[in-house]
Order: sequence, then C-alpha cells, then structure tokens
Amino acid sequence: MSAGSAARARAAAGGGGAVRPADAASSGAGVRTDCVRPARGGVTGPGAARAGGAAGAALDGLAGAARRTRGEDGETVGRARVEAMERDLRARLVARYGTSDLGAVDRAERRAGPLRVPVRFHVITDGTEGALPDAVAGRQVDALNVAYGGRRGGADTRVAFHLAGIDRTNNPTWFREPKQQQRQLKRALRRGGPGVLNLYTAAVGSDVLGFSTFPEAYRKEPVLDGVVVDYRSVPGGTFHPYDLGFTAVHEIGHWLGLYHTFENGCTPPGDQVDDTPYEASATNGCPMRKDTCPQPGDDPVHNFMDYAPDACMREFTAGQGRRVRALWAAYRGRAAGSGRGRAARSVGRDR
Ligand SMILES: [Zn+2]
Repeated sequence: MSAGSAARARAAAGGGGAVRPADAASSGAGVRTDCVRPARGGVTGPGAARAGGAAGAALDGLAGAARRTRGEDGETVGRARVEAMERDLRARLVARYGTSDLGAVDRAERRAGPLRVPVRFHVITDGTEGALPDAVAGRQVDALNVAYGGRRGGADTRVAFHLAGIDRTNNPTWFREPKQQQRQLKRALRRGGPGVLNLYTAAVGSDVLGFSTFPEAYRKEPVLDGVVVDYRSVPGGTFHPYDLGFTAVHEIGHWLGLYHTFENGCTPPGDQVDDTPYEASATNGCPMRKDTCPQPGDDPVHNFMDYAPDACMREFTAGQGRRVRALWAAYRGRAAGSGRGRAARSVGRDR
C-alpha cells in the first residue's frame, strides 16, 4: 500500500473497508490488517476501499476533524474473505468440539467467570505528541470493560480486560505511519501469544480511527496480531466525537472475531450473528431510527460494530457475546494456543 493510500485504505477497510486478498497481494506491502474504523464520510466507498488495498484488512476510520461523520463504507472485508474465515472457523470448531454450533461450543466451554484478556498497551510517540499517561491507558481499559460488560445497556459479553503492561516508544516514523510501519513496530513491540491483546496507540490518521486483525489471521502472521487506534480516540481524547474510547472497543470486536453489523448488507448471513438485525450500510451520525433491510428489526445503529459516533454506541448483543467466546475457544484460548498457535513464540518473549 502506498503511503498516499493509507488513510483511504483505513477508512475503506474500517468502513467496510474491505480489503480483498487480491488487493492485499497487490499492495506490495504485505500488510495484513483486518479492520479499519473510518471516521470521515465521503472518503471511502467501495472503489476507494479497493484502491486503498490494505491487505485483507479491516480498517476503521477517524472522523475527519472537518466532517464529523464516520464515513460510508462499501462492504467491509468482503464476502469471499468472510466465507473463507467462516469455513476455517467451522473446521476448527468441529475438530475440537464435534460441532460448529457456537451456542454448543459456548456451553461446552462454560467458565466460572468471564474471559480475562490481558492487555499489553504500547504507546508510540513522536517525542512529544502521543505520550498518553498511564491513567489514560487505565481509562481506556475501563471503557473496554464498560462496553463488553454491558454497562452501557447492551448484553454482558462476559469478556473482561486488564492491563498487563504499558510501554512507551519514541519513534516519529512509527507514530506518523503506523499502518505502513506496522510490521516493523509490531515486530519490535508485540508481546505474548494469541490470547494477549496488543493495543497500540499512534497517529493513525485523519480519515481512519484504527485498524485490527481478525483471529483467523494469527496462524499465518502472529506478529501482526493486534489492534492499533489513534491516540486521540482514547477516553478524553481530542477526536471528538470519537473520544470515549470506543474505537478500541470496536477494533477489539474485530480482534475477537466480530464483523461489522452491516457486513454483507441485507444478504444472509450478514454479520454471522443472529440477533443483530440486517443493515444495508454503515450508520453515519446517530439517527433515531433506521431500517434499511427487508428482514425484521431496525438497524442496530447503537451497536459497537456499526460506525456511529462514540456517544451513540452502547451495545453488544448476546449473540455477539456467544460468537466472541466461541472464537476465543477456537483461536485464542489455551487449547488454541497449544496447537499451531505455537507460532506465537516468534512474536517474542513475554516480559
Ligand atoms: Zn470496523
């Protein structure tokens, strides 16, 4: 991906920024991100997304300071990639549990408490900008727990996060171009195996808020596994209206295996979750009501996996929680880590 296309790619990816494998391959950078959360309207669109070509990723954009809308996006990761990821998931679950039914897997994995996800927080700065204090990292993790715990009104996904470490790196190039430089910066900073969330903050850009990888990508490129968000999107940040820390909530949703609620539009199986109504396209702003598909139910405009501004986001569903927990079992849990996930070793020692 060229430097010039980075922001667009993110917006695209995030926005539905579907980056297709072919685009990825042709991007030359070999970057493989998975979701991008776009912030600015107008910059994306399917064409832009493809042109941006962030390898097979999902990018989510940043609200342009000027536009204040998260941006339209075409199709997100795209049907072919979704189907490939779902095939991989079913095969893994059947091999391990004898079924690919997410509810059955969840029951088989019944835990006494929530999934506990350690967070390795990597603050990248240019020497002055981006230097988030520890307290802010703590507030970001708090925001994750509020969102995933259902404390803004949605379902409790039974996923809990805790800070396992914070480090700071002064590298102006990484800070300014985290997407283009992600391989280098992650190789240097990433810690832990598939069950450790590596969360990086940097100046992601003006059109994109963050980007993430999907669980299925871990096996091939463990070093890229993780989530990058703009340092101004953390709680109390300056990226109004994306300043409550929900960019990280959204991106981590992808890291846990969730698609956008508008994935595949009105076409089954949509986002692969049965209690998020179909939605033709990403939500801009915070409409009182929106219903873009013939199937039952209004669009899930308040869902963390849509694109509304942070203040409008408030829920995950029970179905998203089941999916997250089943994908954890398949890709990130102890059992998953004992197999091919061993490649984790190559991402560096735990500190
Ligand atoms: Zn996204």
